[in-house]
Amino acid sequence: MTYKAEYIWIDGTEPTARLRSKTRILEDGADLPIWGFDGSSTNQAPGDNSDCVLRPVFSCPDPIRGGEDVLVMCEVLLIDMSPHPTNSRAQLETVAKQYEDMDPWFGIEQEYTFFKDGRPLGFPSGGFPAPQGFYYCGVGADEVYGRDVVEAHLEACLEAGLAISGINAEVMPGQWEFQVGPASPLDVSDQLWLARWLLYRIAEEFDISVTIDPKPVKGDWNGAGAHTNFSTKAMREGYDAVIAACEALGEKAEEHVKSYGAGIEDRLTGSHETAPWTEYSYGVSNRGASVRIPWQVAQEKKGYIEDRRPNANKDPNKVTRLITDTVCSRAI
Ligand code: ADP
Ligand code: MN
Ligand code: MN
Ligand code: MN
Repeated sequence: MTYKAEYIWIDGTEPTARLRSKTRILEDGADLPIWGFDGSSTNQAPGDNSDCVLRPVFSCPDPIRGGEDVLVMCEVLLIDMSPHPTNSRAQLETVAKQYEDMDPWFGIEQEYTFFKDGRPLGFPSGGFPAPQGFYYCGVGADEVYGRDVVEAHLEACLEAGLAISGINAEVMPGQWEFQVGPASPLDVSDQLWLARWLLYRIAEEFDISVTIDPKPVKGDWNGAGAHTNFSTKAMREGYDAVIAACEALGEKAEEHVKSYGAGIEDRLTGSHETAPWTEYSYGVSNRGASVRIPWQVAQEKKGYIEDRRPNANKDPNKVTRLITDTVCSRAI
C-alpha cells in the first residue's frame, strides 16, 4: 500500500515569495525522504544547474485528501545540503535556538482578500460596494462574502492539527483574517505557511482566488496586514519586560520595516488604523501606533505586545527572526 505526501515549499519569486507544491507517492511506513525540484522554474536556480533540494521540516495530516496522506512543509537546500539563499527558515532556526531559554511565543493575524472575476469578492462589477463600516465581524449576505470558504479552511486547519486560534471578517468586503498561535518562532512560521497553502488550495474548490497583497484596493479601503503578537517568558511574568520590548523594537525600527513585506509604504500611511512607516510609536490600546500593548496587558502588568506593522505578504520566518533577535538579544 502507498500514501500521498504533498511537498510544499517557498519559492524565489521577488519581491514576495510564493508557495509551490507537488505530490510524492510513498510506501506505507516509509519516512519522508529528501526530494528535489527544478529550481529554474521557481526563480531558485539557473537552467544549466537547476536542481534544488527539498528537506521536510514539518508534516501533518492532509485534511483534503484524508486517510494516511500528509502535507509536508519543506525547506530548500542547495545540492551540497547547505541552505539555499532563499531559505529564510535556516536563519530563523539559528536565532530561535540561540534564545530558546527565553521561550519566545508568537501569534500571527493573517489578513487576506478573496478575488473573483478580477475584483474582490463582494465588489459589484464596474463599481464599488457601500463604504467600510459594517463589514468587520459582520453577518448577513449583504455584508459578508466567502464565509463558506473561510469555514472550510478553518475546519481543514483544525483537522491538520495546526495551532489556528480564530477567524474573523475584516473591514473591507471579501477581506478576512485567521490567527495562528501562540507558538514558538519556528512552529508559528511553518504553520502559517501551511495554513496559507491550505487557504489557496481550498479556495480553488470554490473557484475563488486568494491574495495577501497588502493593498489590494487603492483608495479609502483598508490594507491587509499580519499583526504579529509576541511575548517572552519574562514579558508573560512582568511589565518591565513588556516596556523594554517596545523600546528595543523602536531602536531597530528601520531595519524591521524593510523586512516586514514588500509595499509596506503603501499600507502604513498613518490612516486606516496604521502608524506611518517612517515613525515608530507604541501605546496602550492604540491601534494607530506601530506597536500596541493590549489593555488587559497594561491592567495585569504582564503579557504580550502586538507589532501592527507587518504586511499580510510578510515572510513569517523573517519577521519572527527579527523580533526574537531584537528583543531577546537585550535579555528581555
Ligand atoms: P486583535 O485584537 O489584534 O484582532 P487577535 O485576537 O486577532 O487580536 O489576535 C491575537 C493573537 O495574539 C492570537 O493569535 C493569540 O494567539 C496571540 N497571543 C495571545 N497571547 C499571546 C502571548 N502571550 N504571546 C504571543 N501571542 C499571543
Ligand atoms: Mn485580529
Ligand atoms: Mn485584523
Ligand atoms: Mn491585531
